[in-house]
Amino acid sequence: RVVSTRAQTAFEASGEPRAAERESRPLQLVSTGDAENDYSFKLCEENLDRVLSKVPDGMEVSVVSVVGAFRTGKSFLLSFFLRYLNSGSDDDASEAWMTADGPSLREGNRNSVKPAAGGAQGVQEEEGEGSSLRSFEWRGGVERMTTGIWMWSEPFVRRTEGGKEVAVLVVDTQGMFDNETSMGLTACIFAVSTLLSSCQIYNVEKRIQEDHLQQLALFSEYGRMALNKEYALATGADADAEVEAAAAAAAAAADRTGGDPAAGEGTGSPSLKGGATAVSTAVGFAAKAKANAEARRAAAAGEGGEAAVAAPASQDRMERPFQRLEFLVRDWQNYEDEDLPGPKLQDEMIDYLAEVIEDKGIKDLRDTREQITSCFEKISCFGLTHPGFDVVKKTFSGDISKIQPSFLRLLNTYVRHIFGELLEPKRINGRFLTAPELRNYASAYVELFHN
Ligand code: GDP
Ligand code: MG
Repeated sequence: RVVSTRAQTAFEASGEPRAAERESRPLQLVSTGDAENDYSFKLCEENLDRVLSKVPDGMEVSVVSVVGAFRTGKSFLLSFFLRYLNSGSDDDASEAWMTADGPSLREGNRNSVKPAAGGAQGVQEEEGEGSSLRSFEWRGGVERMTTGIWMWSEPFVRRTEGGKEVAVLVVDTQGMFDNETSMGLTACIFAVSTLLSSCQIYNVEKRIQEDHLQQLALFSEYGRMALNKEYALATGADADAEVEAAAAAAAAAADRTGGDPAAGEGTGSPSLKGGATAVSTAVGFAAKAKANAEARRAAAAGEGGEAAVAAPASQDRMERPFQRLEFLVRDWQNYEDEDLPGPKLQDEMIDYLAEVIEDKGIKDLRDTREQITSCFEKISCFGLTHPGFDVVKKTFSGDISKIQPSFLRLLNTYVRHIFGELLEPKRINGRFLTAPELRNYASAYVELFHN
């Protein structure tokens, strides 16, 4: 059947109320302008408010985000996350949730708060644009969603292993490393989504490469720089000094991305284009951040107001500004036996990660690793095998029975890992955040990266 793609690209940004307004769909959270608009980076406040207004009062929020290169299966993975979350599946290990919304991923997802009218599985989806709107776009060949950060319109209430109810928000990023998006914008998307998430999934193809680590180190420094500035503004510390120190670290990270012959050419992965460009990006960014800091300070002083984000009294200097980093290796080929129960596979990936992160005794490599490990509280790793050649065909329509059973089994383990043992509320400076608090941070963070 014919599925309109027009609706997907036009539905947001305009903010126009549409008939499908109340349906589950991705909403643009952060938009990026084009060359004519100076690549402006902007929070879509209405959309964020629309999602957060559905979080029960006082409930803490958990934000699960996926970043990584263009066309590495991020949105495809997220459409499975949504299926799992929609199914409400919990402790049984069954794969029934995979087809509970119909036998094809194109059937989309029911609304998590109030199930779509009709209730019959899959069959109510025939009304034109409906089904394709109900999942993050992932299909080969279709026009891509606009570059930026997207959030699923529905929060999902889940219980953490500790027994606390949290509202789970699902975030997709779009347009990184696609040769159309500048390095600076890619860095902003990465930094803001990392700042906002309680679990950042870094999706990579086949293996974790040196250039993945270098980019991660650089982008995390951007995020840390932003946080240091907020910290300085909120506590009256010297914002310039904070920003300069962080900028120096970012520039060093940027420098390494050009200095390492192992990075870039021939690795099969897009990488920063040379050290010089990366350094100037980092330095330019730092200058902008500094100017923004001054402007904001002046504005705050003028109004006698407070900084947007209040720092808590006991501040541990944000040694580790981010919560969880999860490497997800796609098309992973090295499991000894992918049919082993989840924990065994996770052990294999823990060994792999340890090997990747291990100190190789070479200064550049060590600095990159230290930068990453000092930015995240927890770093973990998982591998999904190739989903099968039917999936990568342009003609793939989302038929779940065409996906490799081994991939589906691993995916079943994976969703329980992400929304089970790894699930925790978003925490900033030791404080768990509710929806209004997340809202404040989101506007403050995006503002930091605003041109
Ligand atoms: P995104 O740009 O990262 O969001 O990528 P998409 O989710 O849109 O997927 C891009 C293409 O990769 C689609 O044709 C998918 O069917 C395909 N794909 C999805 N998952 C995988 C995977 O694990 N391995 C491979 N090789 N291809 C995948
Ligand atoms: Mg995508």
